Amino acid sequence: MIIKNVRILGGEPVDIRISGGVIAEIGQGFEGEAVEGGGAIALPGLVDLHTHLREPGREDAETVQTGTQSAARGGYTAVHAMANTSPVADTAGVVEQVWRLGREFAHCDVHPVGAVTVGLEGKQLAELGAMADSAARVRVFSDDGKCVDDAVLMRRALEYVKAFDGVIAQHAQEPRLTSGAQMNEGVISGRLGLTGWPAVAEEAIIARDCLLAAHVGSRLHVCHVSTAGSVEILRWAKSKGWNITAEVTPHHLLLTDDLVEESPVGAYNPIYKVNPPLRTRADVEALRAALADGTIDIVATDHAPHPVEDKETEWSAAAMGMVGLETALSVVQEAMVETGLLDWAGVAERMSVVPARIGRLAGQGQALDVGAPANITLYDPSVRTKVDPSAFASKSRNTPYEGMTLPGRVTATFLRGRPTVLEGKLV
Ligand SMILES: [Zn+2]
Repeated sequence: MIIKNVRILGGEPVDIRISGGVIAEIGQGFEGEAVEGGGAIALPGLVDLHTHLREPGREDAETVQTGTQSAARGGYTAVHAMANTSPVADTAGVVEQVWRLGREFAHCDVHPVGAVTVGLEGKQLAELGAMADSAARVRVFSDDGKCVDDAVLMRRALEYVKAFDGVIAQHAQEPRLTSGAQMNEGVISGRLGLTGWPAVAEEAIIARDCLLAAHVGSRLHVCHVSTAGSVEILRWAKSKGWNITAEVTPHHLLLTDDLVEESPVGAYNPIYKVNPPLRTRADVEALRAALADGTIDIVATDHAPHPVEDKETEWSAAAMGMVGLETALSVVQEAMVETGLLDWAGVAERMSVVPARIGRLAGQGQALDVGAPANITLYDPSVRTKVDPSAFASKSRNTPYEGMTLPGRVTATFLRGRPTVLEGKLV
């Protein structure tokens, strides 16, 4: 098969010939059965290090099938499925179940994340080695949704995963400092009378974990960094040469906490309730600069689907989280490319190449060269469209961007040469 007239990382127009699931030839004027690229930008298939697929247990919110359809529409060819399912993915049996569902139903590769502690309870290490040795070959471990707040357990987890080159992905949230917390602690939380979620609750854990990772010589990945102070700590830790990586979500690159007070959908709208919370404009600026200069390594969606009844309720009772797979690339274009902070090569590094490297995925996140697997995302950055959640492939609709006009559109996604999306639609 041939993909005609695409611009790899925004370069000069070329044709790509695919054979046996790999890129066989890159050139011009190829003849044969072709998909017309229309001058779209070609990126290596996107890789998400942080997706909630909700299966098993909350199939009313999302399934492996619908979540990966959502991923494919967003240009993703691989996702890491977080462990906070029901049952929790804390044994070889459960991670293999998710892995098998991925093989059977998925529109992109599914790599289960294993829980760090049994039941995400923070008391006892889960069977990390058994999950690593299982058919799912787990390399990323996280209690995401909860923080591994016990320093001794965190140290032991970091030590344990060294044996199989694993990484602990920490959801940095000091639980005592965030008891009952509802939104970013600051001027607006004070005015609205909502319990504040202080930046220090994130920063204290990140600082501690950087020191622990350095102490035992292991790999730490910091999930969804949200504050300027966290960026400063990461910059310091990386200057030491420690083996630490970090992610930022699209929503933390674009949205701020004042939306809780005043927004197109009114005040106190739980569509903006998320963990960690939306922060201030100064935090957003610091996160953008950190993603541009490499202090933050990657963008991860933290795609967190919730059914309507869990979001459309009063603020304090509403679930935390936003869907994000189908809008991620557009939000990154708006926040990072339109602002001149990243070019398309920079976007490919942060949304494909480096996330695949952190997850130790062979066959994903490779540059679009001859011989590489044909995992390809075609993206038209020139259009601007209103976000319409009713068109999402995700089972859930909890997007903060409804009605907003965002740039760009994924026109096609190819998984090892097989189209999963063509002309913006699922195949
Ligand atoms: Zn989290």
